[in-house]
Amino acid sequence: MAQPSRIWLSSPHMGGNELDFIHEAFKTNWIAPLGPNVNGFEDDLKTFLQTDKPVAALSTGTAAIHLALVQLGVGYGDEVICQSFTFCGSINPIVYQGATPILVDSEATTWNMCPVKLEEAIIDRINKGKKPKAIIVVHLYGMPCLIENILEVAQKYEIPIVEDAAEALGSTYKGQHCGTFGDFGVLSFNGNKIITTSGGGALVCKDDSTKQKTVFYATQARDDAPHYEHTHIGFNYRMSNIVAGIGRGQMQVLAKHIGFRREMNELYQNLFKNVDAVSVLSEPHEDYHSNYWLSSIKVDKTANFTREDLRLFLWEDNIESRPLWKPMHMQPIFKNAPYYGDTIAEELFDTGLCLPSGSNLTMEEKDRISNKINSFLKTHGHI
Ligand SMILES: *Cc1c(COP(=O)(O)O)cnc(C)c1O
Repeated sequence: MAQPSRIWLSSPHMGGNELDFIHEAFKTNWIAPLGPNVNGFEDDLKTFLQTDKPVAALSTGTAAIHLALVQLGVGYGDEVICQSFTFCGSINPIVYQGATPILVDSEATTWNMCPVKLEEAIIDRINKGKKPKAIIVVHLYGMPCLIENILEVAQKYEIPIVEDAAEALGSTYKGQHCGTFGDFGVLSFNGNKIITTSGGGALVCKDDSTKQKTVFYATQARDDAPHYEHTHIGFNYRMSNIVAGIGRGQMQVLAKHIGFRREMNELYQNLFKNVDAVSVLSEPHEDYHSNYWLSSIKVDKTANFTREDLRLFLWEDNIESRPLWKPMHMQPIFKNAPYYGDTIAEELFDTGLCLPSGSNLTMEEKDRISNKINSFLKTHGHI
């Protein structure tokens, strides 16, 4: 029998009107990193986030983090705190600036930065003679972090927060959107994110002058003069008007796509409902609303199977799943970065798995996933 078609973890899902915005860009010759689609996409994002904060569309989420750090004055020899359990895009810009990442463990409820370990890290770094310049906190897999506790610690020590909401567009805490809590908020529209522009990102800024400064840095820091005049080092990080056209089309379906992802999460909650050894990452209580970008599970160490057993079993049927992020303090390139924490992030990497979560999965594909997981659970005596 032929191999069944691949079921992806998360694949692009176009809404239908993206090409109209691109055609309009061609018709009006706005083929540049500025134009009506860029402005329109920024307005759409701001409206969606229900915030007064202006949004700057950029080339990637990583670029957005970089420009946040530049504007917070992070430079050579500085230290920046980041949660260890994340994607490298959260932390690489620290090194671009010649600064040192200080890594902090997660807590077990949301899998994001542990506020207790955060404070420990801050106190220790201050005692060692350097106050961290910024804190990068992440809402992984769409789950809002313990943002109130994190903000409290940050305010106590007067350290600005960069909120990496690359995976959490549409997630809220107490009704407020992720990405709007920090001094800066970061969004990503990479190919696998909840909406995609093929590649893209955005920075949610405090006020209009911060947005202007972000755009200034993103367009080679060109001073006001008829010729090219520069008093700062700039970057080529602005979003293209073509790419922004995809974004405008995607914004029309974002709410619907979040609904589909949440349905995928419900499917997994049901599949593993009676399996004590498996916990599905879920909202701790009603203050939390996750976009469930990726549905993820943790397999108890005492279980009679490992997450790797499940991953390989799904792979037999061409169903993609993936271990959770490998913590940054375990990465060869960051092995010398100071780390504050226990083994929560390490255990998540050891025992966790992301399951297919796309908003475009068909009934048939969902059945294939369910049947395969049920047959795995049956084999191991769980149903
Ligand atoms: C995707 C992602 C980024 C980086 O975004 P890009 O647009 O791919 O540069 C940063 N942080 C996290 C947590 C991400 O998942």
